[in-house]
Amino acid sequence: MKVNFTDNRLKEKIYQGQRISSEEASALYAWDLHDLALAADMRRKVVFPKEEVGFILDRIINFTNVCEAGCAFCAFHAKADRVEPFELGLDEIFDRIESLIKAGGTQVMLQGGLHPHYTLDTYVELVCNVKKRFPEIYLHSFSPAELIHASRKSSVTLDEVVSCLKNAGLDSVPGASDLLVDRIRKIASPNKLTVNEWVCAMEALHRGGLNSSATMTYGMGETDREEIEHLAVIRDLQDRTGMIRAFIPWSFSPSRTRMSHIPPATGIRYLKIVAIARIFLDNIVHIQAGWLTEGLKPAQIALSMGATDMGGVLTEELVVKATGIETHTTRDELIDIIKNAGKIPVQRDSEYQVIQRFQ
Ligand code: SF4
Repeated sequence: MKVNFTDNRLKEKIYQGQRISSEEASALYAWDLHDLALAADMRRKVVFPKEEVGFILDRIINFTNVCEAGCAFCAFHAKADRVEPFELGLDEIFDRIESLIKAGGTQVMLQGGLHPHYTLDTYVELVCNVKKRFPEIYLHSFSPAELIHASRKSSVTLDEVVSCLKNAGLDSVPGASDLLVDRIRKIASPNKLTVNEWVCAMEALHRGGLNSSATMTYGMGETDREEIEHLAVIRDLQDRTGMIRAFIPWSFSPSRTRMSHIPPATGIRYLKIVAIARIFLDNIVHIQAGWLTEGLKPAQIALSMGATDMGGVLTEELVVKATGIETHTTRDELIDIIKNAGKIPVQRDSEYQVIQRFQ
């Protein structure tokens, strides 16, 4: 692509470390991928100058797929007829956590559907029981949608939900953001939560002292501009609270969902989004390379385009698996992948503190 005057001005702004506007971010989609990679890596060095790439030994435990939201973009919920309805008992959850601890894991992500019979007490009891049995485990669990569900079912405020869960032992919450564009949410997840509800849940979390991540599921028929709209909601929130530890983009997996007519996003799109997010989200330190949906090779390339972390080893994940995608990895494979990308692998904890370096 020929570099024009506007691109040169934008390039200058990016290389000077200045914040870019939504309009400028939209223009980055037209950039040559190589230029974008160099600019994103330069901006990565501003927020995270180390050449280390982290990963965490964790386990997602999807404890139920019974869900009253029935989102069109989800193949996991029971009504999608892809996975039999299930609810894990406490013993089954404990068994999974025990095997994680034996493997040296430190973090558990409990996530489930919006079960019609679950109230705030259900979530609080779950957290209390897990923390009583495994006080050493960091619970990075639930989602903004589950917080809103608990608040509705128990007729309490979001602040009360956060306070009860925190007192029970919840440590932080994944920011499960899907796509923060109401036009798309009306099609993909009309019964889940609106953009405004997502923001309210995240503000309540942060106000209550619980950190979070933020994510992005792109490729649901949105425009470039709408993807930037998503990033802008997250950047504005982070300006106000400063409690988002990481941003994780991944593409929508359409197979086996009611939106299967949408073609899957390409690898190039993934890399562009990682790079644009790195440049635009100047107030979030870590961008995770989403190997689970994209595959390990694109995720490895993302490490030179602004990503600083490979996320979790994720020894059990059913939501993406329900769409037919089965990517697995191990600690040793992640270490190799990171080293081959010219970086230093680091096993980290949930607060991004180093547990072990592999040099
Ligand atoms: S995405 Fe979440 S809220 Fe929507 S149907 Fe699936 S499990 Fe339920």
